[in-house]
Amino acid sequence: MADLKITDLHKHYGPVHAVRGVDLEIPAREFAVLVGPSGCGKSTLLRSIAGLEEIDRGTIEIGGKVVNDMRPRDRDIAMVFQNYALYPYLTVYENIAFGLKARKTPKAEIETRVKRAADMLGIAGLLDRLPRQLSGGQRQRVAIGRAIVRNARLFLFDEPLSNLDAQLRDEMRGEIKRLHQEIATTMIYVTHDQIEAMTLADRIVLLRDGKIEQQGKPLDLFERP
Ligand code: ADP
Ligand code: ADP
Repeated sequence: MADLKITDLHKHYGPVHAVRGVDLEIPAREFAVLVGPSGCGKSTLLRSIAGLEEIDRGTIEIGGKVVNDMRPRDRDIAMVFQNYALYPYLTVYENIAFGLKARKTPKAEIETRVKRAADMLGIAGLLDRLPRQLSGGQRQRVAIGRAIVRNARLFLFDEPLSNLDAQLRDEMRGEIKRLHQEIATTMIYVTHDQIEAMTLADRIVLLRDGKIEQQGKPLDLFERP
């Protein structure tokens, strides 16, 4: 079964037709990367999946359920942004635990999940620190940790590495790939970086002017004459 199924999705911002009839199916556990020139609608598509945009037409199904009328928090998704969006006055532990606490998850369960995520991301020694005491790469790991502990069906990444320097970007790219292999969750990842797309993707989806122009395995797409 497809974890994500989008049918005839349209989104306008006033006169701008940002998404123009997108149909897309992503099977369970696949790593799909959305690429395309700036302004082609990648971010709008991702935010529509997350429930952060009101769509004009079409259907979005996550795990076989139509989510059009669901709030973001009910959609079985977890999202990672480029600007980390950490709470500055909460520790790393509290930042990672935040979404679980809001959902009234039992304390012991929260602790188990936070520690497991922190181990997986190599930040177990940083749980008592505040975000300002972390490097950019460490902050991004915390942001990813917040997503992991949710055990969501669908992971959404919006250019998560674009604020990092080149070396950290390389390192985090490897981490994200390893993470996908380890937790085997379906991931939708937006980037304008071709190396990221080539390294991470099982499927690359190329958008242009709000429509899907091509999709396929990385080598099939980029080796075409
Ligand atoms: P991408 O992520 O591929 O760069 P976006 O989804 O951000 O593209 O944008 C698609 C189109 O929608 C662009 O023309 C952009 O200017 C427009 N757009 C995006 N967000 C808004 C907004 N909040 N208000 C008005 N226009 C927007
Ligand atoms: P959490 O409980 O993890 O803080 P929510 O349940 O409030 O998250 O929302 C579900 C998902 O949608 C989360 O991954 C969150 O990051 C994202 N999200 C919710 N509201 C917004 C918003 N206003 N802008 C961007 N992302 C949001």
